[in-house]
Amino acid sequence: MTRQAIVVGGGIGGLAAALALHRIGWQATVLERASELGEIGAGMSQSPNALRALTELGVEEQARSVGVPTHASGNLRRPDGRYLQRARPADTTALLAFHRADLHQVLLNALPTGWVRTDAEVTAVWQDDSSVTVACGGTELNAELVIAADGIRSTVRRLLWPDAPPPRFLGRTAWLGIAEVADLPGSMTLGPGGYFLIHPIARGRAY
Ligand SMILES: Cc1cc2nc3c(=O)[nH]c(=O)nc-3n(C[C@H](O)[C@H](O)[C@H](O)COP(=O)(O)OP(=O)(O)OC[C@H]3O[C@@H](n4cnc5c(N)ncnc54)[C@H](O)[C@@H]3O)c2cc1C
Repeated sequence: MTRQAIVVGGGIGGLAAALALHRIGWQATVLERASELGEIGAGMSQSPNALRALTELGVEEQARSVGVPTHASGNLRRPDGRYLQRARPADTTALLAFHRADLHQVLLNALPTGWVRTDAEVTAVWQDDSSVTVACGGTELNAELVIAADGIRSTVRRLLWPDAPPPRFLGRTAWLGIAEVADLPGSMTLGPGGYFLIHPIARGRAY
């Protein structure tokens, strides 16, 4: 009999978890509270270990087709723009930089149709010796396994571990954005108490 799982959250983490379950023959329902699927936010990079995970998920080729190799963190600059160090691509492994929505779409495309439900906010979760149940939009769904991929302010974590401390602000802030600039080389400019990072991403843009 096919084993059943519920994944709470349809971000990159939830879709990757569902795809991993699919690859080992499980059936999963992904419950996403947003009314539309997609990734907000800007870019992200993936290092070789993450790329190996994408290979295991069977989507490395698709990911590479929407990712741009970058050596940004090896191209270190001073605030005046001068280089402290330039990456030697032959000596270092490139990261792949993405628009987050592109990587999210790659994972979504690889999932069986109908696995992801939107407008599906999980509000309760409980379990007995044989299964686990979630409450979602006035209905209850039952499975052998629930994976909480509902983000840094996870509802599932709060429900199951009410005493666990919430995320703590460590005093670091990031502003992210996408600019329409083709061929901007990736680099990291180091300043006092902060840095400015540029990764080229697909379709003539930079993150
Ligand atoms: C500034 C910054 C830069 C980063 N850069 C990188 C990078 O370069 N490379 C990298 O690998 N990582 C990076 N990260 C980390 C990465 O962004 C996160 O680890 C990743 O996005 C987490 O994905 P997720 O799917 O687990 O959670 P999320 O993206 O938060 O998705 C959670 C999903 O769950 C849904 N949800 C929440 N509650 C419920 C509920 N009760 N019921 C149903 N659905 C629910 C939400 O709507 C959302 O869609 C960065 C993070 C930050 C803050």
